[in-house]
Amino acid sequence: MSADCIFCRIINKESEAEIVYEDDEFIAFKDLFPAAPVHLLIVPRRHISTLADLEAEDAPMMGRLIGVANDLARSFNLDRSGYRLVINCGKEGGQVVFHLHLHLLGGKALSPAIAEGRGG
Ligand code: AMP
Ligand code: ZN
Repeated sequence: MSADCIFCRIINKESEAEIVYEDDEFIAFKDLFPAAPVHLLIVPRRHISTLADLEAEDAPMMGRLIGVANDLARSFNLDRSGYRLVINCGKEGGQVVFHLHLHLLGGKALSPAIAEGRGG
């Protein structure tokens, strides 16, 4: 838990979010400023600042994170049409909230440009 972290506050139910999934390891909610018709954030409950802070032993957790994203893509009917998973890392990677999270974007034809990052 990081006191000034907005995602920790959402995890602790101290801030509002439209939560679409929760288990003992992850929480997923709708992005407040969606870049696509479906824009979810899948967030580990444990406060890890960035992708670059991951340790080797976090690999299984990251695998489960992608599993949750794939399950959500299926429940939001994106699995046939396609979708994009994005993790921004650090300032120049476009990261704004420094609590590791995976963006799930879909529901429209996303730009093929990888440099777009958020994929809107
Ligand atoms: P990133 O640039 O990868 O750090 O993405 C942070 C994302 O969090 C952005 O897409 C924001 O729109 C989103 N965001 C910021 N604050 C909130 C919030 N309180 N509830 C939901 N999404 C948020
Ligand atoms: Zn946090």
